[in-house]
Amino acid sequence: MEAKTETIFRSRLPDIYIPKHLSLHAYCFENISKFSDRPCLIDGATGVVYSYADVELSSRKVGSALHKLGINKGDVIMILLPNSPEFVFSFLGASFIGAVSTMANPFFTSSEILKQAKASGAKIIITQSAHVAKLKDFASENSIKVVCIDSAPEECLHFSELASGDEKELPEVDISSDDVVALPYSSGTTGLPKGVMLTHKGLVTSVAQQVDGENPNLWIHSEDVLMCVLPLFHIYSLNSILLCGLRAGAAILIMQKFDIVPFLELIQKYKVTIGPFVPPIVLAIAKNADVVDKYDVSSIRTVMSGAAPLGKELEDTVRMKFPNAKLGQGYGMTEAGPVLAMCLAFAKEPFEIKSGACGTVVRNAEMKIVDPDTNASLPRNQRGEICIRGDQIMKGYLNDPEATKRTIVDGWLHTGDIGLIDDDDELFIVDRLKELIKYKGFQVAPAELEALLLTHPHLSDAAVVPMIDEGAGEVPVAFVVKSNGSTVTEDEVKQFISKQVVFYKRINRVFFVDTIPKSPSGKILRKDLRAKLAAGIPK
Ligand code: AMP
Repeated sequence: MEAKTETIFRSRLPDIYIPKHLSLHAYCFENISKFSDRPCLIDGATGVVYSYADVELSSRKVGSALHKLGINKGDVIMILLPNSPEFVFSFLGASFIGAVSTMANPFFTSSEILKQAKASGAKIIITQSAHVAKLKDFASENSIKVVCIDSAPEECLHFSELASGDEKELPEVDISSDDVVALPYSSGTTGLPKGVMLTHKGLVTSVAQQVDGENPNLWIHSEDVLMCVLPLFHIYSLNSILLCGLRAGAAILIMQKFDIVPFLELIQKYKVTIGPFVPPIVLAIAKNADVVDKYDVSSIRTVMSGAAPLGKELEDTVRMKFPNAKLGQGYGMTEAGPVLAMCLAFAKEPFEIKSGACGTVVRNAEMKIVDPDTNASLPRNQRGEICIRGDQIMKGYLNDPEATKRTIVDGWLHTGDIGLIDDDDELFIVDRLKELIKYKGFQVAPAELEALLLTHPHLSDAAVVPMIDEGAGEVPVAFVVKSNGSTVTEDEVKQFISKQVVFYKRINRVFFVDTIPKSPSGKILRKDLRAKLAAGIPK
């Protein structure tokens, strides 16, 4: 039989050497002797600056203290924190002892936290006192220790106990490159959120693909100041800001929460040079053009947008507001480690790029576009599902071999995104095959909301799909079928969900229908519902 030929796309930059044998922390701190006294973390809220030597030492101390608290290689800690130095020390400290960090949004409701803590098997939760009430019963029932970074309630440990660990007692741990170091949660192409196993080798590879080599994809140098306002509990920020910044020896400016004025003040004060953003931040910049004009933002040389599509109008605004900056997109997916493609305008010796492209596949990786029905590889300029292969992708979903098998086929990670690659190797995302909804770059899994809706006593069926929204990109809306004789209202359904989920998963509109369209095998025909929305808001 004739062998099938596949069209495989690669970076226009040459492959590089990647030290995959190193553990993630060893790799990030490999060149620390060159910049040990330079600023590593700047806490935007307090102005406290931590040098590279401080960050490395604090992380070792936290690692040692975690070990003393009974955390061993392979154990999971949950980091339930906003951006803060303690987040960084906890993540790196866990890496030092071969432990795994699962990160979650501190604004999650009690049941969302519990689901992730339980599924990941977390043994310690590091958080703030404001969130303790949401988890203390579960924690005490399951002997999970809770550590608070601010005033610790009686039943919790204070972070100072971790920060004062003895670095000399840090255990020597034999870490293999296939060991898991980070466990973010993502729903992937279908279903409920799942633990994404990212290994030391995977994250080392992903960071190297971005910042290593003569002409790195994402050129960062040690004089750079990176704005870290995107939440570190999302892999985009953890990888492309924190880990890439550490590897390059740059200063990472930590901001807890996006607010336009303090954001601009910090850019001006610390002369931020690199702005990794998401479209809603770009939108806020565009909407506050007069405020932006009051600040000197001329230090910014790179504006990178990712996590969701960036429209042409927003691109143009950024170009106007940051005239000295190169602007481009990156394309990531948690399961892919996360970066699949990045704009070559960020390289040290940049390439011309086209507006709307979300980059070119990263180095040391292969990309193909396949027909979603036949799985046949497609040539340039044809739309199909984007697939990626390389050492950076996830090892699999935790305790879910079936979902892993569906997502990684012959080494190729299937993204559920539809795109095409043009004659210049630039990738354009044109549609989404998967169910996922993205609210300001945050994941909303329809299956999670549908499962909750089905627990409502007055609803007999439900489907959740994205609706386009100017501010958020997309918002979840529900089509529901009432149980016989029910008079339940839209507001009652919305409130029922609001109580159980973090703010960005709240249902924006509820449409009552007679039936949910389904395929013969019972799969919700989401395309039909999306088409209904596209044709105008249903009555
Ligand atoms: P997450 O796993 O939360 O990072 O979400 C990954 C998904 O976000 C991707 O599979 C895409 O659907 C979407 N996404 C990420 N970056 C972009 C981009 N630059 N343009 C369009 N969609 C994007």
